[in-house]
Amino acid sequence: MNAVQIFTLCSGSSGNCTFCRFGNTSFLIDAGASRRAIGKALDSIGASLSELSAIFVTHEHSDHIKGLAMLAKYDKIPIYIAPVSGKSLSGIDEGLLIPMKHPAAVTLGDVTVTSFDTLHDSLSSCGFVISYGGERFGYATDIGRPTQEVTDALCGCRAVILEANYDKDMLREGPYPYPLKQRIAGKYGHLDNDTAAKFCAFLGKTGTERILLAHLSNENNTPAIAYETVHQKLEEENITLSLGVADRYAPTELITLALC
Ligand SMILES: [Zn+2]
Ligand SMILES: [Zn+2]
Repeated sequence: MNAVQIFTLCSGSSGNCTFCRFGNTSFLIDAGASRRAIGKALDSIGASLSELSAIFVTHEHSDHIKGLAMLAKYDKIPIYIAPVSGKSLSGIDEGLLIPMKHPAAVTLGDVTVTSFDTLHDSLSSCGFVISYGGERFGYATDIGRPTQEVTDALCGCRAVILEANYDKDMLREGPYPYPLKQRIAGKYGHLDNDTAAKFCAFLGKTGTERILLAHLSNENNTPAIAYETVHQKLEEENITLSLGVADRYAPTELITLALC
């Protein structure tokens, strides 16, 4: 029996970090919180920093890498990152940086982590699909649009963490300066609730059983609005799946499984 556990530890504009455990292999996707906060969150779900064998980095924006330097310094965890993003980091032992030029696949024990390119205004950006025991699990945040690459990668995944960053009306009427609004809503920005809803419906039709909406904006979204927008779309299309919203600061379960 091989346990699968995937939890977001924190999610949103202020920090993103996801814990994955597949049998004896554990790793993080992104480390956008302090080492202390990540350690505490892991502890609360029965995991620990010492079991981590890798950190996979989607991109070099601070809300995804804040804790990297301290995790590298004290825990010596290998960091898989696009070469161009890796070069932009400072204060990290270069020996721990393992270049991953997307798309790429890395095998850790029985787990394969495959990256796919995403549209985002960073030096490089990607999402991940994790394959284990005949199952696939997907991760995609900070995506301007659900491109063909994103669609191909996530299609058929059993469970998916997907960005639902902003509500279009809240962004339009909100306090952000116009250029920032344009950046967020642009092709290289973030995914809005309506687009996330349509994409969730597509995923539901391809067999996805569980979706966690993630990376919600503090200013331009609320968990209730994101949930309702997607839930309504799924109802309209008669799609049944388990839908959740990742908490900003507290661990939130995507999925826990015992695969035989
Ligand atoms: Zn970003
Ligand atoms: Zn981000």
